[in-house]
Amino acid sequence: MLDSYKHKGMRRQLVDELRLKGIKDEQVLNAMNTIPRHFFLDKVFTEQAYSNMAFQIGAGQTISHPFTVAFQTELLRIQKGDKVLEIGTGSGFQTAILCQLGAKVFSIERQKELFMKSQPILDHFRFSPKLKFGDGYKGWPAFAPFNSIIVTCGAPFVPEDLVLQLADNGRMVIPIGEGKNQEMILIQKKGNQITQEKLGVFSFVPMLKDTAK
Ligand code: SAH
Repeated sequence: MLDSYKHKGMRRQLVDELRLKGIKDEQVLNAMNTIPRHFFLDKVFTEQAYSNMAFQIGAGQTISHPFTVAFQTELLRIQKGDKVLEIGTGSGFQTAILCQLGAKVFSIERQKELFMKSQPILDHFRFSPKLKFGDGYKGWPAFAPFNSIIVTCGAPFVPEDLVLQLADNGRMVIPIGEGKNQEMILIQKKGNQITQEKLGVFSFVPMLKDTAK
């Protein structure tokens, strides 16, 4: 796949749009300007890849809106070398943004088709996140604790295992709600204290409960 001047130009415009919509973290904006989103989409969406839209990525799932990716990423305040757990690898685009920011990324996906598809795209960028086919509700205890956890599907509640796997001073961003819309929640852990903050309404595909299939 080619990252043409046209794609680069469209990406710059998208980044300007993200800035206008309130994304301030220059490192996040830089990562959004660097990673070609169209590489993560079916060819039929190449021309629209830089509009602030969600698209089908297979298995009935969608890639998140660029604004949502930037918004969730900004909330994590990632430092180089941070261990970050992502629930819902999907297309791998959010995973790539986290890698671009220098995080050590661990990402779980419960749809086999998507799990298989994301690895070669991430390899293409020479990113090496650890990907797992499995159930995100359980997190990834073998690599815990994580400095940040990002859930990219709408969860009916905050999974306790994920809170347990959050490091001290860790941040978790998770959309909560079972209907069409979810409330974005930022959870922070400071010693024994867990705080929760509501940060607006978004729309995600649901976080599914059954074991991976
Ligand atoms: N971060 C992705 C977003 C994909 S949509 C991207 O940038 O493309 C959310 C993803 O969460 C879907 O791929 C869906 O299959 C996955 N998902 C849903 N429930 C899950 C669960 N319990 N564990 C792991 N992944 C899950």
